[in-house]
Amino acid sequence: MSRREHVAIVGAGLVGSLLGVLLRKRGFEVSIFEKRGDLRDIQVKNGRSINLALSDRGIRALRESGIYEDLKTELVPMNGRLMHSRGGELTFQPYGKEGQHINSVSRLNLNRKLIDIGERAGISYYFDHRCVDVNPRRTTVYFGYEGGEIKREVDVIIGADGAFSEVRKCILEEEKQNFTKEFLDYGYKELSIPPGSDGDFQFEPNYLHIWPREQYMLIALPNPDKSFTCTLFLPYEGEVSFESLKSNQDVLDFFAKHFPDAQGRMPHLLEEFNRNPVSSLVTIHSYPWHSHRTLVIGDASHAIVPFYGQGMNAGFEDCRILMEIADAYAYDWETVFKVFEQSRKPDADAIASLALSNFIEMREKVRDEGFLERKKIEALLHEQYPNDWIPLYTMVTFSHIPYSEAKRLGQLQDQVFRKARAEGYTDDLPRMVAEFNALKKGAETVPQ
Ligand code: FAD
Repeated sequence: MSRREHVAIVGAGLVGSLLGVLLRKRGFEVSIFEKRGDLRDIQVKNGRSINLALSDRGIRALRESGIYEDLKTELVPMNGRLMHSRGGELTFQPYGKEGQHINSVSRLNLNRKLIDIGERAGISYYFDHRCVDVNPRRTTVYFGYEGGEIKREVDVIIGADGAFSEVRKCILEEEKQNFTKEFLDYGYKELSIPPGSDGDFQFEPNYLHIWPREQYMLIALPNPDKSFTCTLFLPYEGEVSFESLKSNQDVLDFFAKHFPDAQGRMPHLLEEFNRNPVSSLVTIHSYPWHSHRTLVIGDASHAIVPFYGQGMNAGFEDCRILMEIADAYAYDWETVFKVFEQSRKPDADAIASLALSNFIEMREKVRDEGFLERKKIEALLHEQYPNDWIPLYTMVTFSHIPYSEAKRLGQLQDQVFRKARAEGYTDDLPRMVAEFNALKKGAETVPQ
């Protein structure tokens, strides 16, 4: 099938590339303009190649675009969190039921593969083309490149140009609206644990390793080459902060005190710590997402902090849902964009707030007895009442329940738990389920 309309996508990141493939499948002419060079040829700066957790929402979109099988070799399954105490004791917390897992993937390798797949699907890529302006009324986009500036008049423009989107800026100017940008007081730095001298993983591979230390944390995700990519999350300023780690000795002392078992496996710690940048963590709330036939998608419309492992998954889900709506509305783009933003915005807001709360869970609560006990009870509830009680993490990670609904149900579960705990009946699972079901049906308070 061939459609004559020409779609310009700004940004050859994860979301832009996937969306391009989905549009090509429907016969559109697709051009993707990317400000950087071709990722497949350029050496990406050290410390800019984080690992991501790919889970069911992202996988579904990749499957529906027919490209999941091609990407499978890039994935390392992670069955749960493995928490490391200061003394080196390990505590395991499964992500879901047996067999349920999320997948570690290098953002860089995934992006390179998606560009390969996009090119094979017939997308025209224009690297080193930075979008500098968009006129939504005329569906015209302007790019700066080595040879000067060029103007492209197209039928549809989609901005997949990330958290600091130029396309978003132009949409909001046209619609006379604003957006909010909230930076966390925390930054992150990438580090690594290479394979051991025997060439094997230095920690158990099929887990997301966490060193939760209340005000900060270290995480490590496995790679197919048997290394781990680590991310250190730390406040910018304060007693224990990036700012306070001034000398090499400060860094070594900090790791020896808080992450001793990791430090022993990080031969390049100082080199990486000194070389790799501290990057920021931002939440973007923006609306509307479209003006005329120009739309933003993925991080460009709703960047979130990474603590629920959902930014890319949400962006991939955006692509799937946008295409469903486009199919249903026969590619009447202005209507499609309106329906998309109205239906999707509450979900973007929900996952943004869930991601912020999960930071506290990851760095603090995972060590808390009450929290661990609740996780166990919830696992039992889910096992015995799989259709009635689905834990929040499972709804977000292993289901396609809209994020806003998952958040709402999670709040009702909190309510049931608080009451059961206060009155001492957390072992009465049938009662808890009955109360939850009553709340879901809209009862004002938990029945007695
Ligand atoms: P981006 O990946 O930012 O891509 C935007 C592209 O647009 C880039 O290629 C950029 O060069 C290009 N661009 C920008 N401006 C212009 C311009 N003016 N002109 C042309 N091109 C332009 N998500 C998960 O699902 N799971 C995780 O576990 C996870 N962990 C994360 C950990 C960290 C530390 C961070 C920071 C993020 C994490 N994320 C995770 C989020 C995930 O990385 C993002 O949600 C995802 O990369 C968004 O994809 P995108 O294509 O929308 O934007």
